[in-house]
Amino acid sequence: MITIQGQGVCGGIAFGKLYRMTKGESKVKRAHISDADAEIKRFEAARARAYDELGGLYEKALGEVGEENAMIFQIHQMMLDDADYLESIRSIIADQKLNAETAVAMTADNFAEMFASMDDSYMQARAADVRDISERVITVLAGGVDGGINSSEPVIIAAEDLAPSETVQLEKSKILAFVTEKGSASSHTSILARTMNIPAVIGAAGITDKKYENAEAIVDGFGGKIYIEPNEEIVKEMTERKAELDKENELLSSLKGVKARTKDGQSMLLYANIGHIDDIAPAFKNGAEGVGLFRSEFIYLESKTYPTEDEQFSVYKAALEKMAGKRVIIRTLDIGADKRVDYFDMPAEENPAMGVRAIRICLTRPELFKTQLRALYRASAFGRLGIMFPMIVSVEEVTEIKRICAEVRAELKDEGVPFDEKAELGIMIETPAAALISDKLAREVDFFSIGTNDLTQYTTAVDRQNPTAARFCNERHTAVLRLIKMVVDNSHKCGIWTGICGELGADESLTELFLAMGVDELSVSPGRILPIKKKVLDTDVSEIRDAALELLK
Ligand code: PEP
Ligand code: MG
Repeated sequence: MITIQGQGVCGGIAFGKLYRMTKGESKVKRAHISDADAEIKRFEAARARAYDELGGLYEKALGEVGEENAMIFQIHQMMLDDADYLESIRSIIADQKLNAETAVAMTADNFAEMFASMDDSYMQARAADVRDISERVITVLAGGVDGGINSSEPVIIAAEDLAPSETVQLEKSKILAFVTEKGSASSHTSILARTMNIPAVIGAAGITDKKYENAEAIVDGFGGKIYIEPNEEIVKEMTERKAELDKENELLSSLKGVKARTKDGQSMLLYANIGHIDDIAPAFKNGAEGVGLFRSEFIYLESKTYPTEDEQFSVYKAALEKMAGKRVIIRTLDIGADKRVDYFDMPAEENPAMGVRAIRICLTRPELFKTQLRALYRASAFGRLGIMFPMIVSVEEVTEIKRICAEVRAELKDEGVPFDEKAELGIMIETPAAALISDKLAREVDFFSIGTNDLTQYTTAVDRQNPTAARFCNERHTAVLRLIKMVVDNSHKCGIWTGICGELGADESLTELFLAMGVDELSVSPGRILPIKKKVLDTDVSEIRDAALELLK
């Protein structure tokens, strides 16, 4: 038996076979395509992205290693513009109806061979370059895996790392657990694992080693351990632990229909975070009283091109209908940082977490924003909708958003399309700027939802994607807790409500504090609702208030 120790990011125990998903191997899968034009477009988008990446590398290298050494990236950009190279790829896609990855790989082989056979040593050296640029394009193309898991049974996914765009495209019914060599606890891949309630471990060094392919394994998402070819003793221990968990879950499920109210009568709304329409079933199963955060960007991440107004409308309408009159808060597009979508063709940024992401994209590209808003307002006629805007830093942004929303409502009215005039408008408080001006922002909106994942990242200046920096960030940093209190107080002064939809909301060790602060709603992954409800039911706020508020000191 081999034991690999990582960091558990979603509790649970899974037994199954390890399924290695390594990028290098899965990147070039030869496939026939039917729509050559669409495939050529996909290639063009990947080429443009690779081109921009090279531009960014050139600038970076210029500052760090000087012009002479940086030149290589400009040469690579020129090669990516080479007419013969591009023609070869396009014609393989069009004539042989092959996918872009294969067309790029074939072209790379042909060109590399041609360069290598030349007499001129300068030209020979270009063989490596053409492979390099092609590899870059293929990596961009592979940014969205096709979701195929080539196994008849559900498996434990072992990968070096998984981008959110890859994770959302995996076939969920085939996944028993996620195990990655890299990753960080507050990355969107970890969040997705928690939303799907799939045991997950990150930082599992060596897990993608070829020798573990198909090996029997047990993943302990609580202890962050992976047992490969487990011995009898561990199998017995883990089987017992799993049975205990099942029993605990059964007990918790008896709380499903019970209102989340403390012993002294204080209510807490317990909502679910979802990323997909399919997550509504587990939300219901766990007694969610509403959806507090529907990360709508996953609709974009799963799509190969911009989802149309009608496509979005049907998803939002289905979510509202399924929740049958319960509140559903849908957050507008929040891509950027770790959530990359190729077809958005966003220029590479030095510092994407602080770049043009989320609402900044929407306000830069109002047509895109209006398409989503039209879909949302149209869906509002089918339930109780709240629209929420991410990454707010100023009152001016909110004013502009409200102006665009009013424009959309006026258009729909003119067209005679029904919508709910009272659909609530709220904002995420996930930047220190928003928290610090929450008194002003509270006058502009119907509700706040605190995004503690980003609020923590921006308050502590620790990149949520960087596992090495994680040790410098206390998850329950006093600064973040104080900001939360400030936001709750400011919202209440203005008569609006505040929820928490970041991962901190699911931290049971903070439930008492959130109750003592008067937080109105906690939106957590479906699997966390019942444990939090138990905590609320067991609490008497008048008894714990003073002690809980000590955490702010
Ligand atoms: C957050 O930042 O806390 C949040 C809920 O949004 P996301 O994790 O999607 O950035
Ligand atoms: Mg966020």
